[in-house]
Amino acid sequence: MRIVFATSNPHKLKELKEIADSFGAEDIEFVLPPEGFDPDETGTTFEENSLIKAKEAHRLTGLPALADDSGLCVECLNGEPGIYSARYADTPQARIDKLLKAVEPFENRNAKFVCAMTLIGQDGDVIFADRGECHGTIAKTQAGNGGFGYDPVFLVKGKNGLTMAELSEEEKNEVSHRGNALRKVLEFLK
Ligand code: IMP
Repeated sequence: MRIVFATSNPHKLKELKEIADSFGAEDIEFVLPPEGFDPDETGTTFEENSLIKAKEAHRLTGLPALADDSGLCVECLNGEPGIYSARYADTPQARIDKLLKAVEPFENRNAKFVCAMTLIGQDGDVIFADRGECHGTIAKTQAGNGGFGYDPVFLVKGKNGLTMAELSEEEKNEVSHRGNALRKVLEFLK
């Protein structure tokens, strides 16, 4: 089965394939949308943006489409950067620096990664949608080189003070918001 994965983020595609392989879903081939795929994320929730991306990928390819919209929600910042995680500042490092500064005055550093996934079938209808979450706290300083985005400043709950970027790829996929969301999609497809 071929499914277009509605992203232009190579990190997400890599994780998606690893999670699907470890689930034993070898019969699914994930392909990318045409180059320049960049739908306007005008939604106000992860779910809405995920639907926008899935619809556009299906429109462009005619294939079943899976989309992920994800981000980091920080309690003391009223859920920010949330759906604006990718647009919070200009570069990955600038986004981390801005986040650490914003959280500095607060004692409560609780946060969660969220991933909303939408699956559109061959005929263009939504056939499955759900979300995965991963809970933790924002570190005082960044650590680790793995993953991407905010991983170096996200201390994963139950992982002994390690940031997401200090986990192996397998460990991240086992606990991540993307892993939790994709396993629900794969269970549905099974
Ligand atoms: P999207 O491509 O519009 O869904 O934006 C997702 C943004 O959220 C990314 O650019 C990252 O900044 C952040 N993000 C999502 N998933 C992760 C993750 O697994 N690790 C770190 N940052 C993430």
